[in-house]
Amino acid sequence: LAGLKGVGEAVSKPLEYYFNNLVSTMVISKMCLKYGVGKFVFSSSATVYGDQPSPLKEDMELKKTTNPYGEIKAMSERILTDTSIANPNFSVSLLRYFNPVGAHESGLIGEDPNGIPNNLMPFVTKVAKGQLEKLSVFGNDYDTIDGTGVRDYIHVVDLAKGHVKAIENLKDGVNIYNLGTGRGTSVLELVNAFMKVNDIDVPYEIVGRRPGDIATCFADVSKAKKELGWKAELGIEEMVRDAWRFEQNNK
Ligand code: UDP
Repeated sequence: LAGLKGVGEAVSKPLEYYFNNLVSTMVISKMCLKYGVGKFVFSSSATVYGDQPSPLKEDMELKKTTNPYGEIKAMSERILTDTSIANPNFSVSLLRYFNPVGAHESGLIGEDPNGIPNNLMPFVTKVAKGQLEKLSVFGNDYDTIDGTGVRDYIHVVDLAKGHVKAIENLKDGVNIYNLGTGRGTSVLELVNAFMKVNDIDVPYEIVGRRPGDIATCFADVSKAKKELGWKAELGIEEMVRDAWRFEQNNK
């Protein structure tokens, strides 16, 4: 969870990302073996699937990743898997996050990225607050419901609960779980939900596609439900409501 997380930044600073994210995972694993820590929960990402048709399922073969950030997640999964095979007392849960958004409902804990946000939701909240002029919607010519990119947004509190369930139900060997809702939402659907639920305007314009983006990405969530007894409870309304509540409190 202390990993660097900027996809674009990883493209311009690959070595920094490989050193920080990959080497630290290896060092932590090594220390786990040395000190007899046999349970490892890894924060992975849906980006390891590469560009292939959704719904994405844990047993799918991984396709080529599109940037160093995703490559490091895929390599880390492999390193942890090999480590577990060689050390049967070292159990690993690989959690593939889809698109975490929102904030704690208290409005006290949320995300506050440095500089101009790269991700959609923090960008939307800054536009709503008047700190950024307008949202650029990256492409409306994808083969999706309204032409804009479709993602599986998951409320960060549901994501956190997924970790608790993963720890409580850790099994021997390596087990992989998607943490998503199983539902796809387009950029315009998310922006419209934000405006409606929060009764605030979010000016936007359609611009060209962002390099490296794919049209659609959403999870098959049946495995986490079956094996961990976990499923996401919160929907897009709660996500946009809590994201905006945090942003308003955020001084
Ligand atoms: N997006 C957008 N404008 C922005 C940021 C993101 O239109 O300023 C779109 C992006 O093209 C993708 C979706 O929003 O379809 C989610 O992007 P984000 O960077 O939040 O997550 P990703 O799925 O790339 O990890």
